[in-house]
Amino acid sequence: MRVAIVPGHSSAAPGAVRTVDCGKGRHRELREYDLCREISEELATQLRRDGHSVFEPPSARQPLGYPEYLDERIREINEAGVHAAVELHLNASLDPSLNFALALYHPQSERGKRLAEALAAEFQIALLPYHDSPPRVEPDTWTGGTKAFVRHTHPPAVIGEPCFLSHPPIQEFIRDRGEEFVAELVVAYRRGIEAWWAAQAPMAQSQKIGAEPGGRA
Ligand SMILES: [Zn+2]
Repeated sequence: MRVAIVPGHSSAAPGAVRTVDCGKGRHRELREYDLCREISEELATQLRRDGHSVFEPPSARQPLGYPEYLDERIREINEAGVHAAVELHLNASLDPSLNFALALYHPQSERGKRLAEALAAEFQIALLPYHDSPPRVEPDTWTGGTKAFVRHTHPPAVIGEPCFLSHPPIQEFIRDRGEEFVAELVVAYRRGIEAWWAAQAPMAQSQKIGAEPGGRA
C-alpha cells in the first residue's frame, strides 16, 4: 500500500491550542499541530517498517498559513499518487465535557467511508476510558473555505479526530503520559489503516493509484 500521512494544520496555524497547568506555577501549551506531527512521524515509521510506502507531503513541515498549507498538501498528495490519504487532527469544543472519536470521509466515497469506520473503531479502543459516547463516522459536508482535505484529494481520504484536546482528562493524559498518548494513537491509526487495506479486494489493491478523482471510489 502507498498511503499519505499528514498532520492537520501547520506550525504557523496550529489548530486547537490549550494550556495545561503543570503545577508550581508552570504551564504547558498543547498545540494540535505539534501533537499530530509527532503522531504522524511515528506512524509513518511504523507503516514503513510493516512494508508500506508512506508519502509525507513536504509542505506539512513548512510554516504556511491557511489556506496555503491545505492547498499545497492536497496538490502534493494528488501528484504523489497514493491508495489512501489520512489527515491527523485533535478535536476541540467550547464544551470541555465533550470527548468522542470522529472520522470524516467524502460523502460519495465508499472506500473512504470504510477507512473512516476502521479508524474510528480503533480510536475508541485506544482511548476507551476517556470517551463519553460511541465513535462517530460522518461524511464531511463542509463546503466553506477554499479546499477541504477529503473533498479535493483524489484517493479515498479521511480526517481522523480521535479525541478532544479541549477535554481536561485528555489534557492531563498528554501532560502526565505524553509518550503513551502518542503511542496509543500511532497504534490506532496503524491498525485502522492496515485493517482497511487488508479488507480491500485484490482487484482494488492492484487498481491504478490516483485513478479515483475526488475520492469517489
Ligand atoms: Zn484540526
